[in-house]
Amino acid sequence: MLRVGLTGGIGSGKTTVCQHFAALATPIIDTDELAREVVAKGEPLLEALKADFGPSILTPAGTLDRTAMREQVFANKEKLALLEQHLHPAIRTRLQQCLATLKAPYVIIAIPLLIEKGWQAMVDRVLVVDCSEQQQLERASRRDRCPPEQVRQIMMQQCTRQQRLAVADDIIHNDGASESLASQVAKLHRRYLEQQGA
Ligand code: ATP
Repeated sequence: MLRVGLTGGIGSGKTTVCQHFAALATPIIDTDELAREVVAKGEPLLEALKADFGPSILTPAGTLDRTAMREQVFANKEKLALLEQHLHPAIRTRLQQCLATLKAPYVIIAIPLLIEKGWQAMVDRVLVVDCSEQQQLERASRRDRCPPEQVRQIMMQQCTRQQRLAVADDIIHNDGASESLASQVAKLHRRYLEQQGA
């Protein structure tokens, strides 16, 4: 099974592109969702986080208090690295488990920070969803009802458009109408199927 890693900056259209692939019956794995699953209540990882970061990272109900966790790792590189040391292997294991249950010529694995976290080895191809930075700002701020400046702050923590495009095997240009998006996805879908002899 061909593993296609889908990535792109904030607001570039990753979710929208995934919806188009899903409409073609392509299995989608969302690593953001896996990241939430591995720290669900009852998961051993949550206990490990409690041991390293203290009980304040748990809500009274015993679930992960994301705001408290974010506050601890914000502007503290060591703590962020520690959190990632816990999270990344767990996400990779969960990803392997998900892949083992799938039977399809190819799968789309949405990994927003694929390049920033160096996860290229986890996939066979890198598919980048690309649009202008102005469009990222406009779309994400409209969607999240937040000032563009807030989106810009997040963009500055992500890799640049050029860095992303430099490692792309395939690119979806999401700078036009949504019909164009559907046809680009359909074209890639056919290509991935052909590549797998399906
Ligand atoms: P994030 O990284 O924040 O999760 P994303 O890459 O998943 O974002 P989407 O949520 O798919 O991006 O798109 C951002 C917003 O832009 C959404 O409101 C979506 O409906 C809108 N959008 C996506 N593509 C287009 C397009 N071609 N034209 C107009 N709006 C679009």
